[in-house]
Amino acid sequence: MRVTPSLLMPGPGLRRATRGVLDLAFPPRALDEKPGAANLAQSRGLSAKVWTRIVFIEAPLCDRCGAPFEYDLGPGALCALCQSRRQAFDHARAACLYDEHSRDLILQLKHADRTDLAGLFARWIARAAADILPDLDAVTPVPLHRWRLLRRRYNQAAEIARPLAAVTGLRYLPDPIRRRRPTQSQGGKSGSGRRRNVAEAFTVPDRWRRKVEGRNILLVDDVLTTGATAEGCCRALKAAGAARVDVAVVARVRETAPRST
Ligand SMILES: [Zn+2]
Repeated sequence: MRVTPSLLMPGPGLRRATRGVLDLAFPPRALDEKPGAANLAQSRGLSAKVWTRIVFIEAPLCDRCGAPFEYDLGPGALCALCQSRRQAFDHARAACLYDEHSRDLILQLKHADRTDLAGLFARWIARAAADILPDLDAVTPVPLHRWRLLRRRYNQAAEIARPLAAVTGLRYLPDPIRRRRPTQSQGGKSGSGRRRNVAEAFTVPDRWRRKVEGRNILLVDDVLTTGATAEGCCRALKAAGAARVDVAVVARVRETAPRST
């Protein structure tokens, strides 16, 4: 049976932050905005109002790309896209929907030096990817090109991937994927345009191959949109001998099941 995942919200697979959800992803005391909780430092400047606007993605999901289903189709069920197309990744998971609320938070990490948000995002991802984590060996970020890294001073994907490795106990591989050349800005490009733009833009240097070969690797980024960037990274890791490459992000688009990223 071919099933098109409904991304209408809220549905069984989508849940606005409730106390029950946040108890797992975030300490209740932080919701109450009481100072002094050990983990509250990681939520500095974020209010309960912000939390309740985030739409977390919950099961049932497409087993491969993590697209939320409207109905539980049983274990291992795949969405129409994953049934019809081989994905570059083996599994993808996202903590929440990419909308104006999650975008605001992610942009704070990306452009406003809110690196304190990274640990929180790492815990969101650890929860969203709980079903795939036991099979994984290592965590690695989607790379920024060097000049972008110089301008921004840090790679937001690495800021998330590092604490994710710490909370999951997986090995952290900081730099196995290189961008061959800076990709043009992705803004305004179509999905196919983005994929062409990043085609063959990634490679794994020889010195990293030994740490990649035969491993099950989790590729981390902040957002999954067309999947072009993740697809390029997954292909590079697989070409270097990775046995399996999964993708985990803070937020994914709701309109379409991404091809990968
Ligand atoms: Zn799918």
